[in-house]
Amino acid sequence: MVEKIAEGVYRIEVPLVGSPLKYTNSYVIVDDGEALLIDTGFNRDLCYKTIRDALDELKVKELRVFCTHLHADHMGLAAKLADEVLMGKIESKIVQEVMTTDDYWGDLLNFYIRNGFPSEEAKKMLSLHPGRNFYVKEGVEFAAVGKYVKVGSIRLKAIETPGHSPGHTCLYDEVRQLFFSGDHVLIDITPNITWWPFLEDSLSSYLQSLEKVENLKVRLVLPGHRRRWSDLKGRVEEIKRHHSKRLQEALLALDRPKNAWEVAPSITWDLVYSNWEEIHLIQKWFAVGETIAHLEHLYNKGLVDKKEEKGVIKYFRVS
Ligand SMILES: [Zn+2]
Repeated sequence: MVEKIAEGVYRIEVPLVGSPLKYTNSYVIVDDGEALLIDTGFNRDLCYKTIRDALDELKVKELRVFCTHLHADHMGLAAKLADEVLMGKIESKIVQEVMTTDDYWGDLLNFYIRNGFPSEEAKKMLSLHPGRNFYVKEGVEFAAVGKYVKVGSIRLKAIETPGHSPGHTCLYDEVRQLFFSGDHVLIDITPNITWWPFLEDSLSSYLQSLEKVENLKVRLVLPGHRRRWSDLKGRVEEIKRHHSKRLQEALLALDRPKNAWEVAPSITWDLVYSNWEEIHLIQKWFAVGETIAHLEHLYNKGLVDKKEEKGVIKYFRVS
């Protein structure tokens, strides 16, 4: 399905079967015989077919791919669709040097176990992880994006917005005030802010990146998932409040030293459930990652301290 959004700007709804995200919005920009695809969906047959059919409909033969960030639902098909893939500078380096190695996933597993995630469940989770299963498997050249990405006469400003991922990058059409937000700002759902080995305090990076974009003149926000909307600043304010609430909940949960796995059930998650046990393993994994990010933020602010006991990291309030 191709949807025209503006002159030379189209949206493809790429289905993410089995994911609560439902679909990735891929955008095609066409001008003067040049084409750029922003984000791709998973490395799965149905995603590939959806994009190929859409490109045929648009009569696009050759194109470059730009990925807002390194997650599989945004760059899974990058190598299958183009010879050269543009990404943020930090992001492209991490994909090539880290994300495609088994060491990365092994280290991540150990880190979750150090944060209290039960080890058998963590191992099971790793075998289910969409980020691992539907990732780029083919060889590809990654190029770091410059200040602008040009498509014919259209100029898109690259704005680095670390937080959701270490080098997440948005694109901004200043002339038409279109903002391709990737997963930096979403509506109806909030972007997952998790712990990254490459960021000291990912929530701090994320909040700074929100400030970087909130005053842009934007007519339309074109996100990586769900619907588009107009009021960027209003949504940024809501997301900031959402994280303050989570920080408060995490702090309140620390009535005694606890690891992230123990803190996670005290936080309100945007899921339908009556108790923590009911939550699917994948959602627990993302919830614990997000809890670690919030605890690390509190730690960096000096509001909590941490100690490691018998291989498990416990956080406690500073009195
Ligand atoms: Zn995404």
